[in-house]
Amino acid sequence: MVVQPDALALKIDGDVLDEFRASFKGDVVTVADEAYEDVRAIRNGMITRRPALIAQCQGVADVIAAVNFAREHELLVSIRGGGHNVAGNALCDDGLVIDLSNMCAVRVDLAAETVRVEGGATWGDVDRETQVFGLATPGGNISTTGVSGLALHGGMGHLRRKYGFSVDNIVSLDVVLAGGSLVTANAHQNEDLFWAMRGAGSNFGVVTSLEFKLHPVGPVVALCAPVYPVAEAPHVLRAWRAYLDTAPDEVSSIGLLWSVPALEGFPPELHNVPVVIPAAVYAGPADEGEQIMQPLRELGTPLLDLSNQVPYTALQMSFDPMFPDGDMYYFKSQYVDELSDELFDELCELGARRPSHRSLIAIWHQGGATSRVGAQETPLAGRSAQALISFDGTWSDPQDNAPNIAWARNAWDAMQRYSSGGIYLNFAGFGEEQEELLRSGYGGNYDRLAQIKRKYDPTNFFRVNNNVKPATH
Ligand SMILES: Cc1cc2nc3c(=O)[nH]c(=O)nc-3n(C[C@H](O)[C@H](O)[C@H](O)COP(=O)(O)OP(=O)(O)OC[C@H]3O[C@@H](n4cnc5c(N)ncnc54)[C@H](O)[C@@H]3O)c2cc1C
Repeated sequence: MVVQPDALALKIDGDVLDEFRASFKGDVVTVADEAYEDVRAIRNGMITRRPALIAQCQGVADVIAAVNFAREHELLVSIRGGGHNVAGNALCDDGLVIDLSNMCAVRVDLAAETVRVEGGATWGDVDRETQVFGLATPGGNISTTGVSGLALHGGMGHLRRKYGFSVDNIVSLDVVLAGGSLVTANAHQNEDLFWAMRGAGSNFGVVTSLEFKLHPVGPVVALCAPVYPVAEAPHVLRAWRAYLDTAPDEVSSIGLLWSVPALEGFPPELHNVPVVIPAAVYAGPADEGEQIMQPLRELGTPLLDLSNQVPYTALQMSFDPMFPDGDMYYFKSQYVDELSDELFDELCELGARRPSHRSLIAIWHQGGATSRVGAQETPLAGRSAQALISFDGTWSDPQDNAPNIAWARNAWDAMQRYSSGGIYLNFAGFGEEQEELLRSGYGGNYDRLAQIKRKYDPTNFFRVNNNVKPATH
């Protein structure tokens, strides 16, 4: 038999690779295949990693086969869900990608009020199936983001103050471990793994499916999105804070320092005009939500008001056009204890220094259900913070990488003095700070995670992620 060039690169006998391919139901894509560049592409255009093999799994048997193959041949492994991770952790250089993007089935169990989701589904897949029944589980704000990557490390979206983060709604997980066995983790089986997966999930195995609690949502919800000129930001932000002090849990709000997107649907004369948007969504009857959120529309003189009653599925897709595939993304975040005047003033200054109009500062108001989960109930830090501040660097030209990354990093540094610690690991830049970052993302839970990692993945087989190293003793 002819030894293939990709097999040589992997230092694997060509017959062995052929055998693996033959045993696999999905496609096994290598650099020699025409589909390689398309299959390799992920959301962040800055990521240039080139895996040797991409195993496009079609089911649990494929996942087990891929894990066993990688282990037996000592290949570096990464797991791809939706491919949105800014650091590019879905891919690895020269190793094997366990690609779940073809595993995206979703099944609602109406009697149990749960939804079972395969490990490669996107939030768009979930919303479509659950909204038919007027149900939803908290996801993120972009429909193309993967369920697994987002939910296994937190999951912040428009329903968070009423129903919590995505992790708070996970009922059960099916996981293929490094040894190739499939286990279930829930409140009654492998409880330690269940705890660890709900915050540090990519560290312990490949999640082939997740089960979430469902809640009545929509099908139409009230969105509040008045767009004020940035000159009014100092006042608008203070008035927004006063409103939030007494807002019910149904209101999940994000204050945005941004520019009007230069996209169809926005008035051309406002394109790229810097603005402040005290946006909010009401997780309850839409008419009631409109009334309750009305004060946010009267904080100043809006340039534009996008407030409306919208189908929940449309709401979940409304940000998609602003974050297209292949653009450049560098997001960094910090929990802050208090939304102080000083913090607002500093955020306004940082907002004015954005090198790209498409970048934004998002002030994710917390509290409600997110703060009623105890600090040790899941691994995530930041439950008691008043807000998460994320600096979402977004631009199109690779030549602009350096100033945009520097802006997000400097802004993030400036936040440290407003925080008693805690970052959100789904907005962690490239994870440059390594263990320091992880300790900030998990706080006092880090050492417990390291012990559980030692039990379930002692060789650190799953290490292309925000990596919790196995405890040494
Ligand atoms: C434009 C944009 C908008 C975003 N909006 C939000 C938002 O509204 N709310 C929010 O909370 N976050 C948001 N995020 C952050 C998002 O949660 C993370 O980027 C997350 O990593 C995406 O998950 P994924 O499955 O798409 O990514 P991937 O890159 O595929 O995976 C992310 C990580 O999870 C691991 N992983 C993926 N699937 C599995 C699996 N089945 N089993 C085990 N490990 C797995 C991967 O190995 C990787 O380490 C956004 C990101 C972007 C780029």
